Amino acid sequence: MSRASAITNIGSLVTNDPDAGEGPLGVIPEAALVMMSGRIVWTGPMADLQPADESFDAQGHAIVPGFVDSHAHPVFAGDRADEFAARMKGEAYQAGGIHRTVRLTREATNEVLDRTLQRLSAEFARQGITTFEAKSGYGLTVHDEQRCLQLAQQATEETTFLGAHVVPMEFAHDPDGYVRLVCEDMLQACAPHARWIDVFCDRGAFDADQARHVLQAGLQAGLWPRVHANQLQPGPGVQLAVEVGAASADHCTYLSAEDVDALATGHTVATLLPGAEFSTRSPYPDARRLLDAGATVALATDCNPGSSYTTSMSLCIALAVREMHMTPDEAVWAATLGGAKALRRTDVGHLGIGSRADLVELDAPNHLHLSYRPGVDLINRVWVAGDMAWSRPEGYEVDGLDGSAE
Ligand SMILES: [Zn+2]
Repeated sequence: MSRASAITNIGSLVTNDPDAGEGPLGVIPEAALVMMSGRIVWTGPMADLQPADESFDAQGHAIVPGFVDSHAHPVFAGDRADEFAARMKGEAYQAGGIHRTVRLTREATNEVLDRTLQRLSAEFARQGITTFEAKSGYGLTVHDEQRCLQLAQQATEETTFLGAHVVPMEFAHDPDGYVRLVCEDMLQACAPHARWIDVFCDRGAFDADQARHVLQAGLQAGLWPRVHANQLQPGPGVQLAVEVGAASADHCTYLSAEDVDALATGHTVATLLPGAEFSTRSPYPDARRLLDAGATVALATDCNPGSSYTTSMSLCIALAVREMHMTPDEAVWAATLGGAKALRRTDVGHLGIGSRADLVELDAPNHLHLSYRPGVDLINRVWVAGDMAWSRPEGYEVDGLDGSAE
């Protein structure tokens, strides 16, 4: 028999199940939950809790679904802190900086790449991210893209082939030749290790025809599309994403009225990555306009060494509220269920009955604190599939919020 684990004395439980509690976030005050075999089997008022085999006391803290980071680039070597410093002195961000990471990634052994990936996986967990996507895109040869995806596959089931990140230096005079390589030999080598195909459709990367070619080749190979779209300027990326039925159009910083319409009426999630605008000192996307039009919005970290070297979903939530005019509720939804929708997952991003028991205990009485207390580490404990994946180190005293903890 599997054991039932309860979490008791939850000050405020965000389920993202409107049938389970108040509002779109399905909030249950003074709550408890029960997990069994890695799944949520019960949520409700603390007063209705039945005995379980073991229990964890949340001491009045909030519980939210684990964050779902649907856009990350954690397989790479080196760092680019100097470029960040130069940008902060006034230089503009350009897609070309990627070449530097490509060179270092090609030179790196699997062990070196894996060490960084493991470190970032641990960071994700510590930040409350319980599902993350991992893209290739810093290898840009058949061999290097393949080995990056093989490593990524060990860390997450959400792997994305991004051979079409930029045109590598050696193909500078033959971009179409590179697109051919991506769609043929590289795709063939990478498809067995990926669930998704992605393309950077923007200035300095790939145009609409090249991007369409890549996405269609991916579809033929059984990969689902997602697109880096409209980050640096207005362009065809969003329309292309909707046209090919992509799960997500990511960045969405420069949108026309037609782009907003397409996202509002289609099934493509608009994934916003405020860490990128923060780190490149660029204008933030207008989340309010997308939400008011009826689009589904996700928030993700875009964790990468060039333009957004953060694993903090809490930071993304705070930026989305302060700079992109999302409400604190909308931002928490976008970082959890929104991310799940961007990955076409129904088992994560919420705490409905039967969902995977991925959850985060906050050092706060409710989820509003994620944006109300920017820059503060509020992650107390993290469970993945019912197992505790992270908790505050020994010696860090977590005070209860019920007034009784000494
Ligand atoms: Zn990206």
